[in-house]
Amino acid sequence: MSGVLDARQRDEAIRKLAAGPLDVLVIGGGITGAGAALDAAARGLRVGLIESRDLAAGTSSRSSKLIHGGLRYLEQGDFKLVKEALRERDLLVSRLAPHLVRPVPFLYPLYRKVVERPYVGAGLVIYDALEGIKRPVPHHRHLTVKGALRRVPALRPERLAGAMLYYDAQVDDARYVVTVARTAALHGATVVTRASAVSLLRDGERVTGARVRDEESGRTFDVAATATVVCAGVWSDPVFAAGGVRAGYQVRMSKGVHLVVPRSAIDAETGMITRTSKSVLFIIPWDDRWIVGTTDTEWTGDRAEPAATAEDVDYILGEANRVLARPLSRSDVLAVYAGLRPLVAEPAAAKHVDAKHADGKGGAEGKGGDGGAGKPTTKLSREHVVDAPVPGLVSIAGGKFTTYRLMAKDVIDAAVEHFPRTVPPSVTSELPLLGADGLPAVRASAQRLADDYRVPLAAVEHLVAKYGTVATEILDLIRADKSLAQLLVADSPYLRAEVAYAVTHEGALHVTDVLARRVRLLIESGDSGASAAPEVAAIMAPLLGWNRRRRAAEVREYQAFAAANAAALRTPAVLAASPATELVPA
Ligand SMILES: Cc1cc2nc3c(=O)[nH]c(=O)nc-3n(C[C@H](O)[C@H](O)[C@H](O)COP(=O)(O)OP(=O)(O)OC[C@H]3O[C@@H](n4cnc5c(N)ncnc54)[C@H](O)[C@@H]3O)c2cc1C
Repeated sequence: MSGVLDARQRDEAIRKLAAGPLDVLVIGGGITGAGAALDAAARGLRVGLIESRDLAAGTSSRSSKLIHGGLRYLEQGDFKLVKEALRERDLLVSRLAPHLVRPVPFLYPLYRKVVERPYVGAGLVIYDALEGIKRPVPHHRHLTVKGALRRVPALRPERLAGAMLYYDAQVDDARYVVTVARTAALHGATVVTRASAVSLLRDGERVTGARVRDEESGRTFDVAATATVVCAGVWSDPVFAAGGVRAGYQVRMSKGVHLVVPRSAIDAETGMITRTSKSVLFIIPWDDRWIVGTTDTEWTGDRAEPAATAEDVDYILGEANRVLARPLSRSDVLAVYAGLRPLVAEPAAAKHVDAKHADGKGGAEGKGGDGGAGKPTTKLSREHVVDAPVPGLVSIAGGKFTTYRLMAKDVIDAAVEHFPRTVPPSVTSELPLLGADGLPAVRASAQRLADDYRVPLAAVEHLVAKYGTVATEILDLIRADKSLAQLLVADSPYLRAEVAYAVTHEGALHVTDVLARRVRLLIESGDSGASAAPEVAAIMAPLLGWNRRRRAAEVREYQAFAAANAAALRTPAVLAASPATELVPA
């Protein structure tokens, strides 16, 4: 139980899964599945996690990367949801993942002095109050026009009536999922990526596990489990269909697109949130860049790689340009990415579970203690749904990245409800993630580590900021091979050692796993990481035993993927960009 994910451990893990039986088999390695595997393993259960592609390859690497209460849910009157999310935000920032989740300031520009300031101000008073007394992030503040422009000179000054400043938090979503999965492995979970559930095993009505295909070798094997837990996000319906199960809800896909622009394109020292005609637009600081988004449109195409369109790009640019003095243009955009929200459609009549919610009370609606048939699916909160359509099978969908820990607790509570033995309650609120324990001491030791390992202080600071206390494991790789101390590409802080570490500790099996989800050049560099692919493949090859042909194939595959990803930026605009004349957000 080391928390190491690598190719050797993967072979052993497949043997272990096939030998079974497990208490809990989790299907899906996004944030929900990784969280569920951690929750179950930390209760002392025998747990397996299978993921079709790579950890976070689905929605969980394509979010706005905010850990937030969700200001707009306040407007919808969903105080419980906001309170829950704010408590989770604070727990992650202060105790469970301070190395991964950081407070970030947002400016909310005001354009209607008389009505808007009291309205937004009251909302933020509630937002702050819901958080509780002990707070790791600062309170909101009122700003004058001058104060707003000092923090965000990029704002168009005409008709600006002032601003509010408030705080939320942000995260590298894909890295977070990898860390949760590694923490689950540290507590005994068996984690296997590139392994798909192709059908569910049945004994009469009861689900007794899953038939799994190893996507690397093509072999299939059966995994027996007392409870099978489906955390497949937008893939929930195909998993149910393959298992011959009629679930209590359907998942609808809503596409959200983000643009990434260089920091120099927007002169601002805080993030920004503005209203749009449809929802809100975030401008979020991301190291030397800004992430700008998002959209919300129904999607019925390929689940694996949702495509951004030229219209998506123009919509986001148009909305941003309503408030920016220097308009953004397509030439400013470094990268574009799209993700699919797994939205739970109206649940059909289904059996439901009586899962206990985080606050110790039962589910909100349709609650019944018998897991009985024919009643509506229990809706545990506005956002996520847990369903137990047949014995031995539990599923969860919806929700937010921010509340993954509560979702994991709810779905594992439901999974173990009918276990023959008593299972301890969730302990994840007390369980810091890998890299969190001892963080202040490692942060304070940065200079000594730089001296000891003979690397620049900036490199140590970069590693500690990204990996927390396990940064020393990467420094150990550098000590063994000095060439790993070099930068991977010139204009980015990533070290070659991070590629090696992705393979030796973080379960990366392909170039795409590294560039899309471990070092994030896919969304951070102007060429989507294409020019870094040969170097990444060269570092990975000896660690994974690739020959020259395999190495070339990996590079080709990544470069084709990167080109497809950037296609929306090359496509000529179909709609003219919205004129940047409307100053007052709807
Ligand atoms: C544009 C956008 C912005 C967002 N922004 C935020 C935000 O700022 N903050 C926030 O809190 N939330 C945000 N969200 C919501 C959040 O990202 C999602 O709720 C969350 O990532 C969903 O995680 P998941 O694990 O349920 O699904 P996924 O991450 O999609 O994971 C499901 C996994 O199951 C795997 N899988 C599928 N079928 C099988 C099979 N047969 N066998 C094995 N594995 C399988 C898939 O490969 C996939 O990796 C955003 C969502 C979107 C789309």
